[in-house]
Amino acid sequence: MFGKGKKLSIRYFGDPILAAKAKPVEEITDDIRVLAADMLELMYEKNGIGLAGNQVGLPLKIVVIDIGPEEDEDGKPIPPSTPGEMELLPKMPVALINPEIVSYSDDLSDFDEGCLSVPKLYANVKRPSRVVLKTQLLDGSSLTAECGGLLARVLQHELDHLDGIVFVQKAEEEDYSKIESGVEKLIRKNGPRGFKVKRLV
Ligand code: ZN
Repeated sequence: MFGKGKKLSIRYFGDPILAAKAKPVEEITDDIRVLAADMLELMYEKNGIGLAGNQVGLPLKIVVIDIGPEEDEDGKPIPPSTPGEMELLPKMPVALINPEIVSYSDDLSDFDEGCLSVPKLYANVKRPSRVVLKTQLLDGSSLTAECGGLLARVLQHELDHLDGIVFVQKAEEEDYSKIESGVEKLIRKNGPRGFKVKRLV
């Protein structure tokens, strides 16, 4: 069906598949396991830390993530502070199947985001600092846990992909104006005629 020796490639902003809503994975089959492994391989090849189904042309609710422990300014590891980080960080890389965010913290954080589908362009996006993630893992187990730190950030970015949203749509106005010409260039190359960025902030 997919995966299976067929090399995956990254879809770039403007490609309509990145605006599609992903469908749930019905069953965790060998195909899905192969797909997750292929997605991880591609993510590593491109030096990414997260990749969603839509980004490889498959609007399925699957996300792969690999983030290490966070470090402070002196390079010392910051111990994870939420149950979700404690559970998921030691398991990295992880594939999340049918992930959803069931609640968001009120407090927001700033972070310069990038995306394999928007190469070399970075912009600040304000997002809730912590989220409660509900997901299945590749082994079929389920998890519901509060996640903070970089994990909360990556989760929100990747789950946006599954909803057909790319971070440039949520970038702070001032930052967006700095990358706008780069984004337009990408759209001219990858998007259908007349494609307009639907800004969400
Ligand atoms: Zn992305």
